[in-house]
Amino acid sequence: MAAPPPPTTAQTPSPPRRIVICGGGVIGSCTAYFLSHHHNDSAAAAASITLVEKSSVACAASGKAAGFLALDWNDGTPLSSLSRSSFGLHRTLSERLHGPTAYAYRPLHSLSLPLSPPNPNPNPNPNPNKNDHPLPSWIDGRIVGSPKTIGTPDTTALLHPKLFTKTLIQNSPGVDVLTGEIKKVEVDDEGRVVGVVVAVVDQEERFVAADVVVLALGPWSSQFPIISSLFAVSGLKAHSIVLRPADPGSITPHALFLGKDSLVPGVYPRSTGEVYVCGMLREGEEVPDDPEAIVGDPESIEALHRVAGTVSSKLRRGNGGGAEVVAEQACFLPCTDDGLPVIGEMPGAKGCYVATGHGGWGIQNGPATGASLAELILEGRSSKLDLTPFSPSRFLCRGADSK
Ligand SMILES: Cc1cc2nc3c(=O)[nH]c(=O)nc-3n(C[C@H](O)[C@H](O)[C@H](O)COP(=O)(O)OP(=O)(O)OC[C@H]3O[C@@H](n4cnc5c(N)ncnc54)[C@H](O)[C@@H]3O)c2cc1C
Repeated sequence: MAAPPPPTTAQTPSPPRRIVICGGGVIGSCTAYFLSHHHNDSAAAAASITLVEKSSVACAASGKAAGFLALDWNDGTPLSSLSRSSFGLHRTLSERLHGPTAYAYRPLHSLSLPLSPPNPNPNPNPNPNKNDHPLPSWIDGRIVGSPKTIGTPDTTALLHPKLFTKTLIQNSPGVDVLTGEIKKVEVDDEGRVVGVVVAVVDQEERFVAADVVVLALGPWSSQFPIISSLFAVSGLKAHSIVLRPADPGSITPHALFLGKDSLVPGVYPRSTGEVYVCGMLREGEEVPDDPEAIVGDPESIEALHRVAGTVSSKLRRGNGGGAEVVAEQACFLPCTDDGLPVIGEMPGAKGCYVATGHGGWGIQNGPATGASLAELILEGRSSKLDLTPFSPSRFLCRGADSK
């Protein structure tokens, strides 16, 4: 048996009394859930927890993602333990929270499927005998290579990310959700966080006292000097469409990956009867202040419709046997310069924790992030997962190295 990882410690002089989580995406919501379910320490359980969200829970990437989960796709990278632990936690959460009905959690097959460019008159399924997996009959588009099995129901799963994130909040006893915008994080002269300034619509800005603040602000993290003075979080725009085929029962649980990257592009059939298609990353676009103001670019949305129609005639939009368009949308992935999330206490600001930069794996890695952060905050150490590779202090070291 492998030795347990060294505990990741933070000096917490006394159990927190008032915790404020900033951001109601999957990362903030997972943190709220695991904080509210942490029963090892009765003093910690007595802490009050407020989650402050600018717009609505899961209004951004956490509501618009595919919701794909994979056990071992991050093996061989620093994300491996986080991902494996999170995949297991997703299973446990699904059992505890009735995942299949509450948020469309389901294990599924995953295929890599090379497609030819869109063809107005595709030959139905021209290579049926070259598959290592029998190709489901709804995939009747033009396939140029051999489809490959890249995940099985034991190793890959799908959930509805907005329903998942909302279910977590609904099942976080004692967590108050405040709709308001975090304007500032206040730190006293001794370098200890003392609270946040929040703007609530039609009210004056108010100070909310806290001895622990968690910044889970996704691609908005860099708006806060306490973060941007140490590291950058950029937003990478990605598009998606949601379709409801006329005959949803004919769409089998097979996630399809049409490119080399897990995000570009993919087709994900949900147990709700909807099929989610995403891809079309766009670099260099600024993240708007208002999450509700994020819209997709028409060309990118059109490209996704072409992809969907090339995969299956059942995914071509239109009346009379075509698919209904449920959503055409975009959102921003929170990305760091080294491609790893940042999870831990901010150096120089005691009691101020950060959890951001999860890129294309935030839904997958949310539970292990929230569980280990809850442990770090309430017990001063993360015992099950070594958070060292994700520590914000790694950017301090880089600053020193480069001098
Ligand atoms: C197209 C697409 C597909 C994806 N597919 C997958 C997938 O299949 N599997 C997977 O694991 N991951 C996937 N991801 C990645 C995943 O969506 C993200 O990593 C994850 O949602 C990030 O969560 P977050 O909580 O950090 O950020 P967000 O979801 O962006 O949440 C941040 C929250 O902070 C709030 N906020 C911002 N500023 C303030 C403020 N000043 N005050 C208060 N609140 C504020 C925002 O309103 C927002 O609700 C996908 C992403 C995209 C774009």
